[in-house]
Amino acid sequence: MAKALDLYDKEEFYRCLQCAICTGSCPVAQVIDGFNPREIILRYMLYGEQEEVLADEKIWCCTTCHACQERCPHEITISGLLTHIMNLAARKGNLPRPLKDNIRLMAETGWSVRATSHSDRVREQLGLKPLKRPDTHEIRSILCEAGLEEILEL
Ligand code: SF4
Ligand code: SF4
Repeated sequence: MAKALDLYDKEEFYRCLQCAICTGSCPVAQVIDGFNPREIILRYMLYGEQEEVLADEKIWCCTTCHACQERCPHEITISGLLTHIMNLAARKGNLPRPLKDNIRLMAETGWSVRATSHSDRVREQLGLKPLKRPDTHEIRSILCEAGLEEILEL
């Protein structure tokens, strides 16, 4: 398994000024207590806490909006690394339960939000055609290609 440390230049993170503009710019940090992108990156890249970070469900709060990266005065690839960390955590099976459930739903129905008979009735009342059921075989193939079959027990 590729490690973020191999793919990113550790020196890049020594340039961090600890100015916290990244965390100050993060919309998630403003509403989720304890979510701190600067701290996550430094723990992972410099403090040797890779395993702890990969097991920390807070990493999944990142929406990959890239605001942190855009505003970093040293152009440190914060959101890129956060995405990479989430990928590594997923490969280890460290996915939060709601996310796992959501991916399973997509594998089973092709939708990320369950369509109900009520939604079908409302569509009919509005004169809309019934929703076409997606080809789940294709979706499952993509999920399997991404290595999620075992993790999600599909
Ligand atoms: S904005 Fe950039 S330099 Fe400032 S703390 Fe964040 S990563 Fe470090
Ligand atoms: S990419 Fe993630 S960490 Fe960076 S500002 Fe957006 S939500 Fe915050």
